[in-house]
Amino acid sequence: MQPGAEQKAAKLLSAVPMKRAEGNEEETMDRREFMTAVAGTVAASQIPGQANLDAATSPTTPLRAQWLERGLIDAGGTHEPYIFVVRRGGQRLDAHDAYERAQSEALIRRLKDQGVEVFHTHLYKGFGMAAEMPEMQETRRVAEIAHRYGLKVDSYIQWNTMMYETFFAEEPRAQNWIQRDIYGQPILLTYGYQQSYRYRPCFANQEYLDYLKKIVRFAVEEVKTDFIHFDNFDLNAEPDSCHCLACVQGFRNFLRSKYSPEQRRERFGFENVDFVNPPQWNRQNPPEKMQIIFDPAIQEWIDFRCQLMADALRQMSLFAKSLNSEVAIEINPHGITGGNRAWENGIDHARLLPWTEVFWTEEDNPPGYHADGRLVSKIRSFKLARAFHNILLAYIADDPVAMAECLAFNQTLGYLGEDPLTPQMLKYLAFYRTHRDLFVGTQDVAPVAVLRSYPSLTYHHARAQLSAILMEQTLIQARIPFALVFDEHLQDLSPYRVLVLPDSECLSDEQLRSIRRFVQNGGGLVAIGQAGLYDQWRRLRVTPGLSGMVDSQKRARDYEESVESIAPQASPAVRKEFGKGRAIYFAGVEYDGPLPAPEPYFAIENRFWKRPKNAPEIVEEIRWAAKGEIPLEVSGPEFLVANLVDLEEPKQRILHLVNYQARRGTRVEAVQVKCSLPSGLRPREVRLYSPDTETSRQLNWKPEGSAISLVVPEVKTYAVVAITG
Ligand SMILES: [Zn+2]
Repeated sequence: MQPGAEQKAAKLLSAVPMKRAEGNEEETMDRREFMTAVAGTVAASQIPGQANLDAATSPTTPLRAQWLERGLIDAGGTHEPYIFVVRRGGQRLDAHDAYERAQSEALIRRLKDQGVEVFHTHLYKGFGMAAEMPEMQETRRVAEIAHRYGLKVDSYIQWNTMMYETFFAEEPRAQNWIQRDIYGQPILLTYGYQQSYRYRPCFANQEYLDYLKKIVRFAVEEVKTDFIHFDNFDLNAEPDSCHCLACVQGFRNFLRSKYSPEQRRERFGFENVDFVNPPQWNRQNPPEKMQIIFDPAIQEWIDFRCQLMADALRQMSLFAKSLNSEVAIEINPHGITGGNRAWENGIDHARLLPWTEVFWTEEDNPPGYHADGRLVSKIRSFKLARAFHNILLAYIADDPVAMAECLAFNQTLGYLGEDPLTPQMLKYLAFYRTHRDLFVGTQDVAPVAVLRSYPSLTYHHARAQLSAILMEQTLIQARIPFALVFDEHLQDLSPYRVLVLPDSECLSDEQLRSIRRFVQNGGGLVAIGQAGLYDQWRRLRVTPGLSGMVDSQKRARDYEESVESIAPQASPAVRKEFGKGRAIYFAGVEYDGPLPAPEPYFAIENRFWKRPKNAPEIVEEIRWAAKGEIPLEVSGPEFLVANLVDLEEPKQRILHLVNYQARRGTRVEAVQVKCSLPSGLRPREVRLYSPDTETSRQLNWKPEGSAISLVVPEVKTYAVVAITG
């Protein structure tokens, strides 16, 4: 592009919001003119929406790197290139020495000797390939050393940073690749004002994605990486969403492709979406105060942002795997944090994780039991990972309880930290490597499924997320094994005995039919609060969706100008036999104590993560709904947590016990276990393993019908009980 054209483009871009106030028609003309001015930047065929949907219907299925089936033991190294250390400032004067050490042969050899299998190191931070090439070549050299030692290589690639000072110098077109807010200003990563040189690129811009592919190609072909880590995988919360041309046009195309003219009339009241804009905010009505999202255009904008991220990831994942199908893809979107991830960050894990093998969570939920009765954990995020056959990476290196939680729920270690590894970490690493066969290839035993319904959580987070969190908390602290399921999993509920709908308000007709069939055929249903009262667009159903199975639901509200705050009340359970199955209804999961004041965007962070007041009754009713077919009963305090998995070869059922009070030195003694056995498993031996002790030992057990009972003498931090046939 000529410099003159650039200036014109920039001028036009800054003019866009002003024109918007004057009238939509003019705005569109300006945008068209702008498009011409930046011809080549956003070719019509590259605007998302049409292309996205084409790709969404393509038969391409994700490939999986097979080497990860044996688990993951990853450590660094550093992921920060030296150029970033300098640009960030505040470094030690010997920072370059530290950088050299982090990629030295001595360090790689030490990690190898300690049992690490994947070496994590820097590759690309966002300065542009020209500025970073010397260090990218350095990574190539270091990767060769790691490979020579038999390690695999994990390469850091920044998904979401454009350090414009160097990037624009290399690629002037990139000024049109960044995310811009409604006023045309660049959107930044949220590291505070001292990193305002980190612009966010726009994922609706195919030219940026094509640039990113050049880095991926370098990683696969030059570095010969085995594993790509895409960092900062999210979007900013409103009002900080991208209003660039590609996004505005992309949004309209998305609506045209997603819906027929008739459906658009049903959705918006009109067909022509040529003038529909991303949402706009004002001081009186900030987005973080919106408790229920009714507006169809805002609902669709959230969907568009989630789809944009998923499509960009799919594109990058398929590209990397087209170069080498054994390259693993990992992203850092965080897990289940209690936040409204779709609304705030454009993150719908169910659309992302089919394209990854691994993902990171940096959520601030260190495992532990608190004096106020909260049990904080990352169990939800681990279960999210397991639901999509992913491995979760989390910071575990400083805390044996975190390592135990990780092994129990992740069935591998993931990320061990940076050299030097902590002594506790080395102990858990040795334990995992010695007993790896107890972890590799296991399947979760989870008779209870808790639905995390996308529209319910996204459109009425304050209620649906609180309900989901409290139901999960009930199950965790009652040691009832459960799985998290997502909308797509409702199509086949046959793996489960009981389905829990925690204020899953927004269910489609098809989903309701599937749930009804499940109960008719003998499944158990636990419906809470407003489950099934709305459709997938959160329109109030005239006939409640679960009618017949659940009869005593209070009528819900349709449009509310000012939304009432919520405080779910307990009520006695209502039982009903339906077909061959059983249904339970609770009006609410009762928060134990005064409900904390709402947080911005109604996040349900861990100050809400407490066992509900009516937990004992909920547990009793879940057992009734399951007709007694919950395979596990474990005695002990509410800070003892359990997970149950099965192995096919050799036939084993394996129980994991984690003590969330271990940091305070509290031991749990004489844990009574009754565990039913899968068909075909006739127990010959029961053995107890623990990193807390040097050796494993046999446990006595006795048969009790189709189950066995046994006593675990002590759980210091972590115990594994393997029942072998
Ligand atoms: Zn954009």
